[in-house]
Amino acid sequence: MIVVEDVHKHFGGFHAVDGATLSIQAGSITGLIGPNGAGKTTLFNVIAGVLKPTSGRVTMAGDDITGLPPHELFHKGLLRTFQIAHEFSSMSCRENLMMVPGNQTGEKLWNTWFGRKRIAEEERALRAKADEVLEFLTISHLADQKAAEVSGGQKKLLELGRTMMVDAQIVFLDEVGAGVNRTLLNTIGDAIIRLNKERNYTFVVIEHDMDFIERLCDPVICMAEGKVLTEGSLAEIKANEQVIEAYLGT
Ligand code: ADP
Repeated sequence: MIVVEDVHKHFGGFHAVDGATLSIQAGSITGLIGPNGAGKTTLFNVIAGVLKPTSGRVTMAGDDITGLPPHELFHKGLLRTFQIAHEFSSMSCRENLMMVPGNQTGEKLWNTWFGRKRIAEEERALRAKADEVLEFLTISHLADQKAAEVSGGQKKLLELGRTMMVDAQIVFLDEVGAGVNRTLLNTIGDAIIRLNKERNYTFVVIEHDMDFIERLCDPVICMAEGKVLTEGSLAEIKANEQVIEAYLGT
């Protein structure tokens, strides 16, 4: 689904991503692991259009998407989750979901004059969809609570929920487990597995929690020093000499 060919990303003279080549199979939950500073987040940001690569190519289903901005990738169904922005923290969880841009009629000025009825209908549909997403994520009880008031893990679920408001095909998750308690981490894991199985989402997951990776991800890709070291099941990765060395070296 996604092919990354010889991607480099330099910051001044520093090669954060240094010739990474990998592919992500449609329908997989692929894990991306590696020691701190390996270049995982930078590579994510290059694929998701947040950063332009210094060189190299990224394709999605055969189309060149190298350097496309996030909003264009978004319309192709490629999403990277972001933390709920500070400005939205005073809005309710439901409203945070409803804020996800789609093809809402209300965005077009002339519709504010000619399409009030339609806008009201769309808002109702959007609200129903947001409620459905909250239910899927088992956080219906948080619908009217402000995003600022929910726990870190619940916020992560909400971030995942934002990807469900559009027709996502591939979702990039950067450390969903960071600072999240085990129970909520399991809920997040359940939601990812269900989205993968029932809605055919492909996921790429950066995560330090190896139990989480083991439960969810196959294959796992290991990066170090800006390059892809190896790919395989987590058991294969763990037994790989180069991987052990890369982790010990940090
Ligand atoms: P990982 O996600 O694997 O921990 P990162 O992609 O965050 O690794 O970082 C890879 C390296 O690139 C790190 O040494 C980091 O300090 C450096 N780096 C990341 N972003 C920038 C930037 N904007 N400017 C300079 N160096 C950066």
